[in-house]
Amino acid sequence: MALWLRDPLAIMAPKAKRGIVIDGAHVVECVGAGAEPSVPCAVFDAGDHVVVPGLVNTHHHFYQTLTRALAPALDAEVFPWLQVMYPVWRHLTEADLRLAVRVALAELALSGCTTTADHHYVFPPALEFAIDIAVEEAARIGLRVTLTRGSMDLSIEDGGLPPAAVVQDIGRILADSERVVARYHDPGPGAMVQIALAPCSPFSVSRELMRDSAVQAAKHGLRLHTHMAAHADEIGYCLERFGCRPVDYMEELGWLGPNVWLAHGIFFSPAEMMRLGRAGVSIAHCPSSNMITASGFCPVPDLEAAEVAVGLGVDGSSASDLSSMIGEARQAFLLQRAAHGAKRASAADALRWATAGGAACLGRSDIGTLAPGMQADVALFRAGALGFTGVDDALAGLIRSAPARADRVMVAGRWIVEDGRIPGLDEAALAHMHAEAARNLRGRAGL
Ligand SMILES: [Zn+2]
Repeated sequence: MALWLRDPLAIMAPKAKRGIVIDGAHVVECVGAGAEPSVPCAVFDAGDHVVVPGLVNTHHHFYQTLTRALAPALDAEVFPWLQVMYPVWRHLTEADLRLAVRVALAELALSGCTTTADHHYVFPPALEFAIDIAVEEAARIGLRVTLTRGSMDLSIEDGGLPPAAVVQDIGRILADSERVVARYHDPGPGAMVQIALAPCSPFSVSRELMRDSAVQAAKHGLRLHTHMAAHADEIGYCLERFGCRPVDYMEELGWLGPNVWLAHGIFFSPAEMMRLGRAGVSIAHCPSSNMITASGFCPVPDLEAAEVAVGLGVDGSSASDLSSMIGEARQAFLLQRAAHGAKRASAADALRWATAGGAACLGRSDIGTLAPGMQADVALFRAGALGFTGVDDALAGLIRSAPARADRVMVAGRWIVEDGRIPGLDEAALAHMHAEAARNLRGRAGL
């Protein structure tokens, strides 16, 4: 039977004052003021809830939940920070990774996220099946995922940043990418798992791997992702090593196209933003990460003026230490408003970046808004909590107050969060196992 989310306190959907109707995996009807659903429905009374499209996270590194607030790296800038992190990550095991992924996915779901990307690029020998583990864990929690098969092939010996223990050669990377695409990638509407390709960054990936990944993506119709314009040092590095700025480098290697979304996108000139907009490239803005790493901040209003779509990313926990999508939307609102003024960044903008903007980054036309025909991916936040009570504009309040937890979350018509809990998940036990794994990982790395 169809389900009517009836009479929400507020809803982010056009002509849906009395809520939406969900049948199977889809939204089938928006119920306007004074109207009733046109089909018989079970009813969920949403009178105490703010209802929004499920939030879309466009950039993360799930495995990094095991290296949160790592003491030796707390106040390091990005390069030295990475140089502390890589020797720790090389000791990750499959069991560690599974716990790290489960924690990240659970945090995301509880924060109203229904679709998430992950960028896994560290492949020490023990993590050969990292993508497979993420597929299994995503199915367990119930999130929709775009898992990127990340890669690094440039170790310290070749002029890159990472140690040899965490990089792979191009042949191995491309072969494993073929394997995971054939096994898991669903190109169709309503897909629960999509695979994208994601060489890590210009500092850790050869020109050949960048180009070959673009060719492989074109062959299979995949999206491409990487870190780009994330640090001021990157421009100098590209000029010195490649003889051109990062955007020129991308263009030369076949990376300026509508299937590309880039993490961070802080340091683009106005002319480069126009080129990105014309090419259809989109940007994953990661405000917490921008602020914690003190890298600068993404010029979101300028990018949007250049017709570049912008989504949000919580980024790896080592950079931002929290996988809360509603929290990240609030950070985006605060950072963009502080940087660009009250007229150029509103709570409605932040909600749009966190939903439709994210869907654009991931190339999904079936998620990110609530309208007939769209996937039934929905987040409901209860207005009764202390930090949220008393709001006038409840949608704006959702961003300005950012409740710690969603009350209910639905993916493809199925509740994956009920009453602020993930059914079947023992949070305390998971946190205990995760903390122990993190402690043991630090021990193996000699910290
Ligand atoms: Zn990142």
